[in-house]
Amino acid sequence: MLDLSIVIPLYNEEESLPELAGWIDKVVKENGYSYELIFVDDGSTDESWKVIEELQSANNNIRGLKFRRNYGKSAGLNEGFKLASGHVVITMDADLQDSPDEIPGLYRMIREEGYHLVSGWKKKRYDPLTKTIPTKIFNWATRKMSGIKLHDFNCGLKAYDIDVIKNIEVYGEMHRYIPVLAKTEGFDRIGEKVVQHRARKYGVTKFGLERFINGFLDLLSIFFVGRFGKRPMHFFGTLGFLSFLFGFGIAMYLTIDRFVSDDYYRMTERPIFYIGLVAMIIGTQLFLSGFLGELTSRSAADRNKYKISKTI
Ligand code: UDP
Ligand code: MG
Repeated sequence: MLDLSIVIPLYNEEESLPELAGWIDKVVKENGYSYELIFVDDGSTDESWKVIEELQSANNNIRGLKFRRNYGKSAGLNEGFKLASGHVVITMDADLQDSPDEIPGLYRMIREEGYHLVSGWKKKRYDPLTKTIPTKIFNWATRKMSGIKLHDFNCGLKAYDIDVIKNIEVYGEMHRYIPVLAKTEGFDRIGEKVVQHRARKYGVTKFGLERFINGFLDLLSIFFVGRFGKRPMHFFGTLGFLSFLFGFGIAMYLTIDRFVSDDYYRMTERPIFYIGLVAMIIGTQLFLSGFLGELTSRSAADRNKYKISKTI
């Protein structure tokens, strides 16, 4: 088994690739690791694939795959993970913003210190302010929701024990939340290492401001699916029941009051009547959503697929 697999998703990064491959090769060989370098070309429209072919013909530790079109970084990582076979799997961005000099340190944290996953932390960043400020908020929200104490969830430079990446599926734009996905699968020894960050040397960034909105929505789905995906009724049912009960309580109170009270009024003259009505309707709808969710998850193909780590 190889010591190390390095997975690099890339989209239009032709200028960076030769420098990156040479640098990685140098660092890894100095440390005596056996390795493979997997380039996942996410449907580049420049000469990236040709560059990868040339690099491959000079160094057979290099492997590559090319998507027919652009699917996104998560898809790239997911397919790269399928190919990877080293004890330790390291991911990096292709734009030379992450330094290959970090590889040995990350490798040791996984193999010797027993971490499942180590995430880089770009403590000092070389990015525009429009990116660093929203990123801070975003990391704070993710920390609060996931309970994972990382400063920089979306750092492209990460190291994994091979078990982790074989047990998670990175889809949509979930590459931002791999630590959360890993924790959901029970890999909880998650560490952090301060890494050097550099300004982009060639090319341009591939993500615009929409990354923050999409990122936040993805966080909500991960959180929800991880917690209630297999038991939607517990979520919707509880809320629905509480809401209905609240509305019903109001209705009961109004009914009794109507009989007991001396002054004559119409039910609809009391604002609280509408609150009760709405609460009961919403309650019923939430309950129905839970019921439908339950039916859906019952017929899901993976309803009884659990990941078993050991048997004897
Ligand atoms: N990337 C990719 N597919 C995409 C967009 C980006 O494989 O659709 C790669 C990109 O080539 C780079 C990494 O993901 O290797 C990170 O992208 P980028 O440097 O543009 O992001 P930023 O550093 O601005 O967060
Ligand atoms: Mg970058």
